[in-house]
Amino acid sequence: SAAAAAVSRLTRWADDFPVAGVRFADLTPVFAEATGFAAVVDALAEIGPDADVIAGIDARGFLLGGGVANARGCGLLAVRKGGKLPPPVLSREYDLEYGTARLELPADGLDLRGRRVLIIDDVLATGGTLAAAAELVIAAGATVVATAVVLELSFLGGRGKVAEASGMAPLTALLQL
Ligand code: IMP
Repeated sequence: SAAAAAVSRLTRWADDFPVAGVRFADLTPVFAEATGFAAVVDALAEIGPDADVIAGIDARGFLLGGGVANARGCGLLAVRKGGKLPPPVLSREYDLEYGTARLELPADGLDLRGRRVLIIDDVLATGGTLAAAAELVIAAGATVVATAVVLELSFLGGRGKVAEASGMAPLTALLQL
């Protein structure tokens, strides 16, 4: 696909970042190229099944989620890193390739019950981030209809964790390495 070609061509790889032993895929050049960003957003906008909310994960999932929500005519839900939202919040702590982290959603002022949510992020690595986002969306009373990433680092085995946390929602990766 055009999206996979753009990601293959433009991704900036960094060894030993953010810690020794991790090879980090930086998608900044993909998004900075008009044809790259369009190809990626268009491909994510085509993913079934129907959703009424696009959830983008802090921070690069926000960039993608905004484009996809606008293209599909969906609402946009920002799944925030810990400490960014005023209380009360729903919170999930999870393990990263490097350390732990927390994701949060507002616990009031927003009714997600019965909503059909497509969760988007840039990169799937160990799956902890996408799994935590799925758990939060479900805890808010919504259904995860699908999850999607631009790049899946499949050798890290994150896909199973996301499937389990999301209620076996289909996971699309525009490019798998
Ligand atoms: P996971 O929780 O191990 O799947 O890591 C995925 C999260 O960390 C996503 O929010 C990514 O943005 C970020 N991440 C992990 N590894 C990489 C990488 O190689 N490139 C870009 N982001 C990464």
